[in-house]
Amino acid sequence: MIDKYSTVVIGGGLAGLISAYLLAKSGRDVLLVEKKSYPFHRVCGEYLSNEVFDFLKRENLLPTGYDLPTITHFLFSDTTGKSVTTLLDMGGFGISRYVLDEHFYQKVLENGGEVRTGVQVETVLFDEIENQFTLELAGGESLAAEYVIGAFGKRSKLDKVLKRSFIEKRSPYIGVKYHIKTDFDRNTVALYNFEGGYCGLNAIEEDKVNLCYLGNREHLRKYGSIEAMEQEILWKNPSLKRFFTDSEFLLEKPEVINEINFERKGPVENHILMAGDSAGLITPLCGNGMAMAIQSGKLAAESILAGKTRTEIESNYEVSWKALFERRLWLGRKVQRLFGAKQASVFTRKLIQNVPFIAKQIIKNTHGKAF
Ligand SMILES: Cc1cc2nc3c(=O)[nH]c(=O)nc-3n(C[C@H](O)[C@H](O)[C@H](O)COP(=O)(O)OP(=O)(O)OC[C@H]3O[C@@H](n4cnc5c(N)ncnc54)[C@H](O)[C@@H]3O)c2cc1C
Repeated sequence: MIDKYSTVVIGGGLAGLISAYLLAKSGRDVLLVEKKSYPFHRVCGEYLSNEVFDFLKRENLLPTGYDLPTITHFLFSDTTGKSVTTLLDMGGFGISRYVLDEHFYQKVLENGGEVRTGVQVETVLFDEIENQFTLELAGGESLAAEYVIGAFGKRSKLDKVLKRSFIEKRSPYIGVKYHIKTDFDRNTVALYNFEGGYCGLNAIEEDKVNLCYLGNREHLRKYGSIEAMEQEILWKNPSLKRFFTDSEFLLEKPEVINEINFERKGPVENHILMAGDSAGLITPLCGNGMAMAIQSGKLAAESILAGKTRTEIESNYEVSWKALFERRLWLGRKVQRLFGAKQASVFTRKLIQNVPFIAKQIIKNTHGKAF
């Protein structure tokens, strides 16, 4: 006999935690499996768009006891260090994933959800005859589930197991994150361009600032270490350099990930409802991957709760996911071309300065509405 759940959620980032929370709250028998153990740091800019604010408030999911910075302005710096600042229509707030994910994890437990941490899902198979999933965990345990939500992030061993086509394509992007103490405006989210990438800064809780950048694997290979690459590449933007030279770095070492892939994926594969980055990662410059993960986790849970048959659940989820996210992901990929190169970044700075209406439209179209 193996344990059988109504739903197993694979991956406990924002998408997985929110779907598990909503299913547990509705009385469903849900298990979330996360390979790491909370709380932990992740590579993420930690700017959370206000799209999610109403939902988090309604669900009482906003962490209390923190003075979270309200972010109302956007600063764009080209590779030469010249910058322009504009008002954000919707704005957001800053909060570390260390705090936010831990908080959501506790909410899943409080609502009766089961969570296994420190263990990885190795395989997931849908059996057409039995009309159920079989999952194998590291260590050899098997589980069965009626539904599976795949919330395993941008890149997982499971993408290979599931033979997802994007996994074969190599990506030039790497991501690096620090928490620092520095002199930086609490109400601003900034993007500093440098050759081959861009670096975001915004305040988070406890007067800390998140410094997170999308860089290039080739630069890392060429200069041999993160530190040397930063000095040779990122410091060429003089406005960015000062954050490396005049700040206190709080983490023992930077969080680093590679192979960040923005290729198209799909919201339903092998009968799994893919949520968050598993369904598609928006380019970080848009600043709303976290909001999309939360919203798609909500959508996946709601589709399971509302649907009567598997076909209905899958098709409802796919249609709503595409309506909400497909265009944003496409636009994010296009806009990314305006970053990380001198001429394009100077052009973008001038565009924001001289035709703010267009810049606002681009920002608006990469974001959704409050939900
Ligand atoms: C450089 C960079 C900066 C960014 N900055 C921002 C920002 O400022 N604002 C914003 O809104 N978005 C930002 N994003 C995007 C945002 O981080 C993601 O969109 C968001 O984290 C997606 O959440 P998720 O739940 O889908 O995935 P994740 O948070 O990645 O969670 C996936 C989880 O699945 C687990 N997992 C994977 N495989 C398995 C397995 N087989 N078994 C069990 N567990 C598994 C992982 O351990 C992980 O915890 C940024 C992204 C990058 C790369």
